[in-house]
Amino acid sequence: MEQLTRTYDVGGQQVTALAGVDAAFTRGTFTAVMGPSGSGKSTLLQTAAGLDRPTAGRVWIGQTELSGLSETQLTRLRRSKVGFVFQLFNLVDALNVEENITLPLRLSGVRPDRRRLMELVDRVGIGQRLGHRPAQLSGGQQQRVAIARALAMRPEVVFADEPTGALDGTSAAEVLALLRSVVDDQGQTIIMVTHDPVAASYADRVLVLADGHIVSELPRSGAARIAAELASLGRSGSLSGSRSGAGA
Ligand code: ADP
Ligand code: MG
Repeated sequence: MEQLTRTYDVGGQQVTALAGVDAAFTRGTFTAVMGPSGSGKSTLLQTAAGLDRPTAGRVWIGQTELSGLSETQLTRLRRSKVGFVFQLFNLVDALNVEENITLPLRLSGVRPDRRRLMELVDRVGIGQRLGHRPAQLSGGQQQRVAIARALAMRPEVVFADEPTGALDGTSAAEVLALLRSVVDDQGQTIIMVTHDPVAASYADRVLVLADGHIVSELPRSGAARIAAELASLGRSGSLSGSRSGAGA
C-alpha cells in the first residue's frame, strides 16, 4: 500500500482514519497490526482488502492495483484472492459447517473438491463436525470453521480482524497456532489486527498504528517485548491520539 488514506465525512467534519500509510506485506509472512481503538486498524484492513475504497493512495494485491478496478472486478478479485476472518466469526447460522466452508466456492461457481475439503477440515481440526450448525459449536470451533472458509479459495492473503478477541485463552492459542501453520506450511500471507501481545507474538512482525499512521514496527518478538513497546509508545505520547480532531 502506498500513501493509503481514508477520511470520513461525519456531519461535515473530516475524520482521518488512515493518514497516508506506506507498507508492504511479503507473500508468505504473518503481520500483526496493533494500536489503540480508533487508530485505523480496521480501516487499514478493509481498504487493503478492497472492501472499502481509499480516499487517496493505492493498494496492490499481487500485481493488481485495486483503484483501477470496477465494482464487479473488485468483487471478483476479493472472492478469489482475499479471505476474511472476523472477531465474531460471521458464519451463516442456517448452514452447516461444510456448507459454510464451501460457500465462497459456490459463490464463485467453483465445484467443491471433496478431497481438498477433507484436507482443509482436518487441518483446522473440525473434520468430525461437517454436519453441525454453528450454534452447536464452541467459539474456538466456529473460528476454525471461519478460517477454513477463508482458505477455501486458496486466497493470496487472509485478513483477520481480532480473530481471537472473543475466545478464551486455550481456543485463542489453537486459532493462532492454526494461523501460524497456514503461513508456515501453505505459504499464505496473513495480516491480523489484535490487541493482545500474546497473539501478536505469533506474527513475523508487528506494526503499531496511531491516528492513522504507522508509529512503530517490530520484528518477531515475544509478548513481553511487544507489551513493553506498546507501553513505551504510550508513555511517549505516540499512542495518545493527540492528532485526532486537531484539524489544523
Ligand atoms: P480501529 O479498528 O483501530 O479501532 P477504525 O479503523 O475502526 O479503528 O477507525 C479509525 C477512525 O475512523 C476512528 O476515528 C473511527 O471513528 C473512524 N471511522 C471508522 N469508520 C467510520 C465510518 N464508517 N464513518 C465515520 N468514521 C469512521
Ligand atoms: Mg477495529
